Amino acid sequence: MTDYPVFPAIDKRPSVLILGGGPAGLTAGYELARSGRYSVMVIEKQKAWGGLARTLTHRGYRFDIGGHRWFTKNESLNKFLKSLLGDELRNTRRVSRIYLEGKFYDYPLKLGPALMTMGPVTAAKAGLDYLLTHVMERVSPRPVISMEDAYRKQFGNTLYRMFFKQYSEKVWGIDCSEASADWVDQRVKGMSIVTAVLDALIKSRTVASLIDEFVYPRKGIGRISERLAEEIESMGGITCQGWEAAGINTEEGRVKSVTARRENEEYEIPVDYLLSTIPLNEFCMMFDPPLPGGVLNSAGLLRFRDLITVNLVLSRPKMTDDTWIYIHDKDILLGRLHEPKNWSPEMVPDPYRTSVVAEYFCSRGDEIWRLSDQMLVDITSRDLATRMQFINLNQVEGGFVARHPNAYPFYDLDYRKNLGIVRPALKEISNLQVLGRSGLFRYNNMDHSIETGLLAARNLLGEKHDLDAVNMDAEYHEIIRRK
Ligand SMILES: Cc1cc2nc3c(=O)[nH]c(=O)nc-3n(C[C@H](O)[C@H](O)[C@H](O)COP(=O)(O)OP(=O)(O)OC[C@H]3O[C@@H](n4cnc5c(N)ncnc54)[C@H](O)[C@@H]3O)c2cc1C
Repeated sequence: MTDYPVFPAIDKRPSVLILGGGPAGLTAGYELARSGRYSVMVIEKQKAWGGLARTLTHRGYRFDIGGHRWFTKNESLNKFLKSLLGDELRNTRRVSRIYLEGKFYDYPLKLGPALMTMGPVTAAKAGLDYLLTHVMERVSPRPVISMEDAYRKQFGNTLYRMFFKQYSEKVWGIDCSEASADWVDQRVKGMSIVTAVLDALIKSRTVASLIDEFVYPRKGIGRISERLAEEIESMGGITCQGWEAAGINTEEGRVKSVTARRENEEYEIPVDYLLSTIPLNEFCMMFDPPLPGGVLNSAGLLRFRDLITVNLVLSRPKMTDDTWIYIHDKDILLGRLHEPKNWSPEMVPDPYRTSVVAEYFCSRGDEIWRLSDQMLVDITSRDLATRMQFINLNQVEGGFVARHPNAYPFYDLDYRKNLGIVRPALKEISNLQVLGRSGLFRYNNMDHSIETGLLAARNLLGEKHDLDAVNMDAEYHEIIRRK
């Protein structure tokens, strides 16, 4: 990593500045550095690589910002990851469950076991509802606008109320009728009860199957970004942590320079090309001269949901066998749990101990965000011990809290309209590309984010790619088709 770099390099190659050292920005930097045709600099405001996909360390324990599994249907991306991390990768068995009112259900929902757990009356109601919804949809299809419409259409009212409404409202903090159907489309499009039943019954080689294994770096997901940064540096690129972009200076439809802040000092970095992965709304506010009022207004209406992770060390060898547990109950504040050791034993330094990460979905300034770190540790420990009975309270050896603004692009009912104003305005700036999850304001996973990084770089190398077309697959992410 470079402390005070000279940029652009003196070698007369055109310069590319990349804002954000998460998977998207670092992949773009890697691909451009590899080409040898540009002088490349990546600036990242945190003192760590990886953005939302980074791994925190504490007393030798390693914690992702919520468990991050690698999964993609794009074989070239699998090869890219393998070439980057090689033997650092392992296969992890996926066991995920939903916790709802003291009972556990498989996730993704497996219909047979779920019906058994919910009891015959609810099961019959859910089945009937599901059939009725599908018959009604054939006879007179209803428009799908909100998240509620989309879930009801796909699963029927009973399953929607049991398994989707409560949890989605925890994640987004609003009623499902006020959130866009697009999120459901991206997350569970094509997830069919029929697939779930067939998956449970026959595990055939020809039937589509729900993913039960995934790839994971032995020392946490942050290794992807750390390796990318190492490679950029080894190819002569410049990577800087603790540098925050604060101003985008434009002239005649081009970005001329970026004002970057490091501690209390400001630098003006001249650029030939700019790639930005930082949150789209914040990025739009940085322009000098400012973007037109209508664009700024729409950018200001694009919101993100935030996240807090509470990370605990436990004096017991194991808590559960799960990779994730989704907590649906309203009176338990946390939304999701994972035990890093179940992802890779190398996430803990001591085989007689384990650790756990609890995710709290929230918005900056709300009642969850305002809880002190100590209160969050106490609430998490108490809920794990007394409500869910996973541990004894005295097994909590310590913990810490991490706060993550801008974790989830928030698809409210107007986001498409606002994005439709912001994106074309930015496309007018000829030497700028926005990419990645927050940069595009799209609910992208790491593979999609990395793909946008590769494609943005290749656009600069003479190819023509539409970054908006990434993550438009028609099929449910959780399904793989066996050959
Ligand atoms: C809880 C959670 C779980 C997830 N689980 C998975 C999973 O299992 N599998 C999966 O594939 N994906 C998962 N994701 C999604 C994954 O984290 C993202 O797709 C990926 O991190 C996006 O990469 P990015 O580079 O686009 O953005 P980010 O990771 O957001 O990186 C952007 C970077 O820009 C930096 N930045 C912001 N402002 C500035 C500034 N002004 N100046 C300089 N730098 C700045 C930020 O600090 C950050 O490092 C999960 C996300 C969350 C929140």
